Amino acid sequence: MGEQTAISWSDATWNPWHGCIKVSLGCKNCYMYRDKERFGQDPSVVTRSKTKFTEPLKWNGSKLIFTCSWSDWFIGEADAWRGDAWDVIKRTPQHTYQILTKRPERILDHLPRDWGKGYPNVWLGVSVESKKYLRRLDDLMLVPARIRFASFEPLLEDLGDLSRWLPHYPNGRCYHAHLHWGIIGGESGPDYRPMKDEWAASIVEQFSHLRLPVWFKQHAGIRPGLNPVLTGREWKQFPEAANA
Ligand code: SF4
Repeated sequence: MGEQTAISWSDATWNPWHGCIKVSLGCKNCYMYRDKERFGQDPSVVTRSKTKFTEPLKWNGSKLIFTCSWSDWFIGEADAWRGDAWDVIKRTPQHTYQILTKRPERILDHLPRDWGKGYPNVWLGVSVESKKYLRRLDDLMLVPARIRFASFEPLLEDLGDLSRWLPHYPNGRCYHAHLHWGIIGGESGPDYRPMKDEWAASIVEQFSHLRLPVWFKQHAGIRPGLNPVLTGREWKQFPEAANA
């Protein structure tokens, strides 16, 4: 992985380490596992990259960078290297980093000392593939961050009512810690698990009702189309802060 990415909501990917350990249902068909096994490598061994660790320092312009597409930023095996990686982020304020994790219970104990209310160039997110993992949103709400986001991918069931993590309670009071962005996607690849459009539409409805941006990445399928349409339109919205 590197400067170019196939992830529709980023300009680039950055993998300061690679390899990961499966933690939940969403990991079942992890593409990193598939690719590493194809090349005879053990995907469960987490390794610091010899060639990519400081890559963003060399990139021109201002990029939206998805971190750790081949691992998890907060995985315990990378604890010794994460400080150096935070340093790369601090030295490149021109870039914006999207850090997505399935280990949010580790975030608070593994932030840099000067995190404060969150680095201005970091968005923090969690993956939520099924109701069981909605609890990751609770962990995320405890963390100060400029942008908090959720990736509902691969979406494996209807998640129901998300209002607890959205900006307003039913009584109209604004909840100080809430999501700012949602990404929705079905699973791809030969072993994909189906996603019903109504599960995705329910999330879109709940976000858009509150004017929260959503990014609908894809339906489920072996090779889902590049321009997915849901409820009659494409949903490709970024948080406003992306343009701030
Ligand atoms: S957390 Fe991500 S990279 Fe790690 S095994 Fe799961 S899907 Fe793969």
